[in-house]
Amino acid sequence: MPGNATKLVHGADELIRVPDVAPPINVSTTFTYPDDPSQWVKAADATSIWGERPIYSRLSHPNSELVEQTISSRVGSYVVAYSSGLSAFNAAITHFNPKVLAIGHGYHGVTGIADIWTRNHGLKQISLEDDFSQLNKGDLVHVETPINPLGTVYDLETLSRKAHERGAFVLVDATFGPPPLQDPFKHGADMVMHSATKYFGGHSDLLAGLLFVKDKKTRDQLVEDRVYLGTNIANLESALLLRSLKTYELRVSKQSQSATAIVSYLAEHQKEIPHLKKIYHGSLQKDDFVAKQLVGGHSPVFAIEVDSEEFAKNLPGKLNYFYHATSLGGVESLIEWRALSDPTCPTTLLRVSIGVEDVEDLKQDLFQALTK
Ligand SMILES: *Cc1c(COP(=O)(O)O)cnc(C)c1O
Repeated sequence: MPGNATKLVHGADELIRVPDVAPPINVSTTFTYPDDPSQWVKAADATSIWGERPIYSRLSHPNSELVEQTISSRVGSYVVAYSSGLSAFNAAITHFNPKVLAIGHGYHGVTGIADIWTRNHGLKQISLEDDFSQLNKGDLVHVETPINPLGTVYDLETLSRKAHERGAFVLVDATFGPPPLQDPFKHGADMVMHSATKYFGGHSDLLAGLLFVKDKKTRDQLVEDRVYLGTNIANLESALLLRSLKTYELRVSKQSQSATAIVSYLAEHQKEIPHLKKIYHGSLQKDDFVAKQLVGGHSPVFAIEVDSEEFAKNLPGKLNYFYHATSLGGVESLIEWRALSDPTCPTTLLRVSIGVEDVEDLKQDLFQALTK
């Protein structure tokens, strides 16, 4: 059995149709039918042609198939790719079609979709702390862990047990803790989603989403729905994502190690940094379930709270190696005054996404800016 890094370079070699080492960018939306009528597949059956001749790029195209197969070989579950993380969540909620949704205070865009469901279909929303006796068979619990923007961890096993006792499904948004950091399936998840715009893409230059599912039947249903939702991953994004997958394993482990080292440096030196009031990160969380879940390392994202809104707003401008921008997961370190993206966020909070720069440079940069 090849290792994970090998799988991300070679996991779909059998699907490559050309001698090019870097898969070419295919711009075609449509593909010729075979001459032999006995080989024709109706578009309605297209979900069964995975790996064979493509028909129309809204169904699948050569690089979307390479993306799904490569990631699937790495993670060991079925993988369905989407045009964005939010279209992956929309596909998941469409699939489960819950009457009640238990949801935490995570990514604002996911909450935005849930609110559209409440507006259109009367979806009832409860929090993860509420009594799960309000959930019934077929309802949905959506857990983001580690959670945006703090990088802190939810107890998946407890939440999954409570959800399953009610017959509800568990969807985990694992964007902040991509493989090999954690495997939510080991802790009760029924489906896992990622914004591949973040770590899988890793270069701040593509938008994509992923759903990981355990069985082929669900995968086929999701692919069929995706044809009609019109949310397949795009051509160019797939080519960029294939490029990204080859360095994925290197990037994520380095980013995770650097973030954890920076968090512990800031925590140790907090007395010398009077403006720094609090640091949020899974590595500072003492609960037993944290080490059990994050077996491969902590999230490369953490958050800091400083002593005033003014100091918080001016901090990004004092940094040399952190761009002030939203998003995370790229090779470039980013910092964001988070209230710009999420109005419910405290105005003293900044979210930090650690890239692949030298960790000493990042440490010193944060220290000088926080003590200026
Ligand atoms: C970015 C993000 C999303 C949305 O993903 P897009 O690719 O921007 O649509 C969902 N969940 C989390 C945790 C995210 O960070």
